[in-house]
Amino acid sequence: MPTPSASLLPLDLASYRHVVVLTGAGISAGSGLSTYRGPGGLWEKAEIARIADARNLPGSLPELWRLYRTRRTQALAATPNAAHQAITDLQTRLVGRGQVAVVTQNVDGLHQRARTSGVWELHGSAFRTRCLRADSRECPSEPFADTSLHETEDVPVCPVCRQATLRPDVVLFGESLLPQTLEAVGDALSTCDLFLSVGTSGQVWPAARFVEVAKTVGARTILVNLDPLPAGVAVHFDEAYYGRAEDVLPALFGVAL
Ligand SMILES: [Zn+2]
Repeated sequence: MPTPSASLLPLDLASYRHVVVLTGAGISAGSGLSTYRGPGGLWEKAEIARIADARNLPGSLPELWRLYRTRRTQALAATPNAAHQAITDLQTRLVGRGQVAVVTQNVDGLHQRARTSGVWELHGSAFRTRCLRADSRECPSEPFADTSLHETEDVPVCPVCRQATLRPDVVLFGESLLPQTLEAVGDALSTCDLFLSVGTSGQVWPAARFVEVAKTVGARTILVNLDPLPAGVAVHFDEAYYGRAEDVLPALFGVAL
């Protein structure tokens, strides 16, 4: 089990060359983003589970677009917080000496807006859109950057094939993560000497396994989360820091607030 750290001392960052930071919803909570609730509690968890289930496509598309209209609106209104910024600063400080790979379960784009580079988005992005037929031979289009709110009740139609409808380029329940993303994350983990898990319950596959891989290759493993995790997950961490990511990460990285 990790030792909950009463006093937080900055890490000796000169000791590390290959850092992997896994982030989840908890890092964006400080920016006012909540996973399941829209403004005024518009979206209930069970409702999202139904709407964001790939098995309900394409009939669920009008509601899926309504959900992502809310998510895009919220994310665009939010700004990256001190935790996002601390990761970007860490990348800058390690330039020429090492690298910091950032792997996120979030689709809110806040890492990129904090100018973090090379972010691996496990669950896609709320700000990318793709054609429903993009995976088939019927449409040659690629996923594209999209901040539009698509504010009509009609589901938007693909501008390339002009036949199929569009969907947010996120990983829905029942869908697989992109193999190339998993491969890249696996590569980063295989040489990792410092692994941090920030603001994630650590219970969503495959992210739950990342800390185990990091531990196997001898990395120091650190948990940053608001609350303690279940013992079965926490056992893989050397240390745990409980608190808000925007307080803990700058302190761990020795950033003056
Ligand atoms: Zn198309």
